[in-house]
Amino acid sequence: MAGVRPSAIRELLRLGADPSVISFGGGYPDASLFPVDELAAVYAHLLVREHADALQYTTSNGLPALRARVAERLTADGMPTTADDVLIIQGGQQGLDLAAKLVVDPGSVVVTENPTFLGALIAFAPTEPTYAPVRTDADGMDTDDLQRVLEAHTDVRMIYTVPDFQNPTGATLSLERRHRLLALADEHDLLVVEDTPYRAHRYEGTSLPTLRSLDTSGRVLHLGSFSKILAPGLRLGWAAGSPDLVERLGLLKLAADTQNSTLNMAATSRYLEAYDIDAHLARARPVYRRKRDLMLETMAATFPDEVLRTRPEGGLFVWLTFPEGFDAADFLGRVLLPEAAVAYVPGATFFPVTQETNHARMSFSGVPDDRLVDGITRMGRLLHREL
Ligand code: PMP
Repeated sequence: MAGVRPSAIRELLRLGADPSVISFGGGYPDASLFPVDELAAVYAHLLVREHADALQYTTSNGLPALRARVAERLTADGMPTTADDVLIIQGGQQGLDLAAKLVVDPGSVVVTENPTFLGALIAFAPTEPTYAPVRTDADGMDTDDLQRVLEAHTDVRMIYTVPDFQNPTGATLSLERRHRLLALADEHDLLVVEDTPYRAHRYEGTSLPTLRSLDTSGRVLHLGSFSKILAPGLRLGWAAGSPDLVERLGLLKLAADTQNSTLNMAATSRYLEAYDIDAHLARARPVYRRKRDLMLETMAATFPDEVLRTRPEGGLFVWLTFPEGFDAADFLGRVLLPEAAVAYVPGATFFPVTQETNHARMSFSGVPDDRLVDGITRMGRLLHREL
């Protein structure tokens, strides 16, 4: 546990759970979008008609029917996949835990974007990696810097990336950089973990091919999740990759928790069979897109110009950069007070090594429109006073 960081942020965000606080902190999907009637019908059917199977143990790699449905969806997304190439996991988060257990030894190197997904740092920590963070910009991981980082380290075990609408910056890895990243991974013979929970939530522009679809040497582990497309409470995600990779991850999964909930896997499989999840996603996208636009427009109208913000083409997050020297964790303490009553995640926590204090991650997904405008306006007023 020595390498596992306690989180002061968690304490601050506990204050943010107060209903009078408008929280842009958690990356929660909009609960009003959960397909509750459909799920109610599916669970009722399973419990009444198929309980002998739905409440029983199943294979540890996941219910075969669900693996087949996931494989179909991945194939349609440019990654020819069979059910055997798919491991069902407890959300994308478990894929990060299993990948680290597979390849990391204490002190060996994990390459990440800088900044990167906090949950990945939490998942990797027990395996005690050394981090080699790579510079990022609006086009995701800077592959020139990646080349430099790979040449500077001898014991790299994995490149971890969130190529689509990254958490926390919202950036998307450009096509050219996708090719370059894979070429560098080939050259250095590395595992690439591609984490894609936001991939389906693109609000503009055209979808780019996944790293796994461009990979010719079976080195990409593709992680996905039902959390943001169906409901995070199901705790369902997938890991897809070469048969050898999936086989070894499956053994680690078996050791960790035997299997996912059979009932939740059966319900999700049946949902995918009986309903149109793409139509569901097509209904969700304009809702998130409107919230993104509302957040950016309100920031443009009420924030001081020197507060820079990203404009993500999808996903759930806007990333703020305050002037040099500004401490976003300190400011959170003040913006949480009743005058503004707003919460966000200070950016320092997303940096694996050198923590930059002048950033914040703002999530627009879980806040009703009127409160979103209110909260941003109140935060803007306080920022004007302080900057
Ligand atoms: N990866 C990224 C980049 C995320 O943002 C999240 C969720 N916040 C996850 C993985 C894990 O989500 P889940 O385990 O619910 O699939």
